[in-house]
Amino acid sequence: MKRILYVAFDQLNLNHGVLKTANPGEDAIVLVESARMTTGRPWHKERLFFLLSSARHFALELETRGFTVQYVQAATTLDGIAEAKKTLGDLPVFCAEPSSHVQMLLLSEAGIQFVPNDFFLTPRALFFQWAEKQKTYVMENFYHAQRVRLNILMQGTDPVGGRWNYDADNRLPPPKNYTWPDYLEHERDAIDLAVAKQLGMEATKTWATTRAGALLQLEYFVSTHLAGFGPYEDAITKENWALHHSLLSPYLNNGLLHAEEVVAAAVSAFETQGAPIGSVEAFVRQIIGWREYINGMYWFLGEDYRNENQLGATRKLLPLYRDSSKTKMNCVKSVVQDVEQRSWTHHIPRLMVLSNLALTTGTNPQEFLDWMREQFIDATDWVMVPNIIGMATHADGGKLMTKPYASGGAYLNKMTDHCKGCFYDPKKRTGDDACPFTTLYWDFLDRHKDAFKKNHRMFQQMSGLNRLSDLPEVRARAEEVLRGLSAGSI
Ligand SMILES: Cc1cc2nc3c(=O)[nH]c(=O)nc-3n(C[C@H](O)[C@H](O)[C@H](O)COP(=O)(O)OP(=O)(O)OC[C@H]3O[C@@H](n4cnc5c(N)ncnc54)[C@H](O)[C@@H]3O)c2cc1C
Ligand code: SF4
Repeated sequence: MKRILYVAFDQLNLNHGVLKTANPGEDAIVLVESARMTTGRPWHKERLFFLLSSARHFALELETRGFTVQYVQAATTLDGIAEAKKTLGDLPVFCAEPSSHVQMLLLSEAGIQFVPNDFFLTPRALFFQWAEKQKTYVMENFYHAQRVRLNILMQGTDPVGGRWNYDADNRLPPPKNYTWPDYLEHERDAIDLAVAKQLGMEATKTWATTRAGALLQLEYFVSTHLAGFGPYEDAITKENWALHHSLLSPYLNNGLLHAEEVVAAAVSAFETQGAPIGSVEAFVRQIIGWREYINGMYWFLGEDYRNENQLGATRKLLPLYRDSSKTKMNCVKSVVQDVEQRSWTHHIPRLMVLSNLALTTGTNPQEFLDWMREQFIDATDWVMVPNIIGMATHADGGKLMTKPYASGGAYLNKMTDHCKGCFYDPKKRTGDDACPFTTLYWDFLDRHKDAFKKNHRMFQQMSGLNRLSDLPEVRARAEEVLRGLSAGSI
């Protein structure tokens, strides 16, 4: 053997990263299941199950392809690599550039040599070139540049269909009398069962742990859900926890799928199977736009960005996040229950329910980040940090998003079917049955009015605040709500 190739648990791909040039005759492969990754924090078991079982399946696949593979359980990644060297010899170690600042520093200090990280469609240097030219980092501008550069859904220099973005046709509330397709289930094999036993849990059948399973999920999404993706992408319904979302983020993030093939499948459905442009464009934008932008911004904004707290939010994490029985708010209870069950909810519950509550209650962004990081199946540093610090909690003072994603009960009443039957009334901002979101929305604007009045994109909201005749009562109710939420009684 001439080299050791270290494969991180988020780089499980034969055709990308360090394995792209691997040769079974010369390269030994090392995967490390580090205790740092599995213990020490209250990680969601479904998340651990998915990460561990995917890596073990991948190690087995490498073996069947003739590679010498060491799958090591050790205290840390570096301990695991050192352990592997005891049998493989003191060979030079290579890996693909890691996906987080911490790992980047740790592995480079240990003398590990990097090959470029090609798990994204945009090399980091190219993203920097784009970002350095911007006054404000508007995702939509980046997305247009991506469409042109990657030549996706383009007709010459124009977007296919004549529009860059079909969002105005989407954003529908949950449909009535609608038949949702069945959820795709993934059967468990011996490796899955062994991992579940080690973790002391029974895994759901929601998540695949092999590339074959991930490909099935992709096919199922394209054939069954893609057409409906656009119209209902912002809706939340108690009738279906996934709606038409793809459930592909775990596989995109651990390497079992690559963005290129996911985008190609969606574009092909448009070109050959008549999938509607409004849905295909919306989905493609998530992958070549949002996903790439978030990763690029993670590296561009640097390591200290995660510690930003420009709204001075100091509240401790509310108990309802760790225990759904600690709230009477229908929408929040249901979303937290979804997370408890399968370690996932789609974008809008993450943003407009979980994060909206953290934002308007003034929850400390780093505490909220830690919780999200521990609970979500697709959470990794590069994706959680900008989404939480920038998009969700506005803790960066607007570097990523020009205005905070705060909303009252009216938005949730329109986009979800949770308000009917809730103890609280989305229209009320004062009184015992006032919707906590509605009260906190106004109180949040009031608390930060000095910062927001300089923001022209907040003009409408601040004008609304100025017109409120019952602000003293709203402030008093907000205090009760915040006390009740912290006590787990609201
Ligand atoms: C507060 C918050 C936290 C989030 N945390 C994560 C996370 O830890 N991991 C993660 O992969 N996504 C995260 N997202 C983005 C998005 O919510 C998830 O990617 C999506 O819900 C995953 O489900 P899906 O695969 O069915 O997505 P779909 O709705 O089917 O979208 C397709 C794909 O687009 C990509 N995508 C869309 N939006 C984003 C985004 N804002 N950032 C990065 N990728 C995006 C994902 O790869 C996703 O799989 C977060 C969003 C918010 C608001
Ligand atoms: S009334 Fe408020 S708390 Fe209840 S479900 Fe609606 S938005 Fe959520």
